Amino acid sequence: MEDVPLADLAAEHGTPLFVYSKAAMLHALAAYQRGFAGRKAQICYAMKANSSLGVLQLFARAGCGFDIVSGGELARALAAGGEPSKVIFSGVGKTRAEMKQALQAGIGCFNVESEAELDVLSAVATQMGLKAPVSLRVNPNVDAKTHPYISTGLKGNKFGIAHENVLTAYRHAAKLPGLKVVGIDCHIGSQITETTPYLDAMDRVLDLVGEIEAAGIAIEHIDFGGGLGINYNGEVPPEADELWVHLLAKLDARGYGQRKLMIEPGRSLVGNAGVCLTEVLYLKPGEQKNFCIVDAAMNDLPRPAMYEAYHQIVPVTQAADHIPSARYEVVGPVCESGDWLGRERDLRVHSGDLLAVLSTGAYCMSMSSNYNTRGRAAEVLIDGGRAHLIRHRETASDQMRSERLL
Ligand SMILES: *Cc1c(COP(=O)(O)O)cnc(C)c1O
Repeated sequence: MEDVPLADLAAEHGTPLFVYSKAAMLHALAAYQRGFAGRKAQICYAMKANSSLGVLQLFARAGCGFDIVSGGELARALAAGGEPSKVIFSGVGKTRAEMKQALQAGIGCFNVESEAELDVLSAVATQMGLKAPVSLRVNPNVDAKTHPYISTGLKGNKFGIAHENVLTAYRHAAKLPGLKVVGIDCHIGSQITETTPYLDAMDRVLDLVGEIEAAGIAIEHIDFGGGLGINYNGEVPPEADELWVHLLAKLDARGYGQRKLMIEPGRSLVGNAGVCLTEVLYLKPGEQKNFCIVDAAMNDLPRPAMYEAYHQIVPVTQAADHIPSARYEVVGPVCESGDWLGRERDLRVHSGDLLAVLSTGAYCMSMSSNYNTRGRAAEVLIDGGRAHLIRHRETASDQMRSERLL
């Protein structure tokens, strides 16, 4: 990766090991920056995709704000040097304590997801003698054509305020003493590989902006969320700049091209920039299936178990010629049949070989757990010929630190 051999990193830091390319992350960001050249726009990295401090620091330095979904993420964003005014707070279940923490920090905007949340946020802000900047998350009822677990803009989802109730909710927000309406927001799902759902959502949102402003409530910024997909296994999503050519054309045609724009990309900034290195522990041939047992597991790479997601798995060094190819279920050591990383993979491997699980920069480390009391993997960020260890491998005592015996 860049100028560093992956096998050297595995030898030095052990496996499983996440390795990220700084250049790949900045390359992905640059596509958005190109797309918005000459516009008033703020990119808020949806940090739940990968919230490791070193990664956040990279995006903060590149001028990004952050889209957060918890008080913990706010603390991380600030610790990594994020500017509070560029932080937006999404999520359907913000607690009063989280609202207070975010108001104290002076974040840029709360993306509110229900009328009930408006009332609570106004009460919390009033108590602090502040006005909370808010934008309402619209559920535009469009099909993002992605996995049901990562589709968020349909009527049956828990997210956002139904399209038909949005105007009433804005009228309500404008009357509350602790709120200042600043924008409108939508986010329709994740791993979206087509342009049409975005264009449909944009039409709906712009219709609403017209209605809301006709009611005398000014909308300073329009936030189109994130969700652009990446290439896991031959998907060809549009590049960010290509997508935004279409979206900006529509915005201009409808007269909103000079508004401040916000977007919240997560996966598309980091997903393809990372790999997870893992060692083959054992080969276990069977009558029905052959198993390739590796030292990474569902606690490190939860996406296959959670969404039946596909990650390519490739050998880091080519096996010797005499090793035959076989079809394997690539599985981890965790005590669950759901602990698989890849199904029916043709590999030429033997124990001790190093494999790379590809496109694991997003929703892997940030979703990892300690199940089976497995320490979380180490992480390395590559910058040209330099390798920065940005997270050391978690030890058993790290894991037990917050626990007490009876
Ligand atoms: C998860 C999320 C995003 C980012 O989604 P990606 O698919 O990773 O780009 C953006 N906005 C909100 C509100 C989210 O919950």
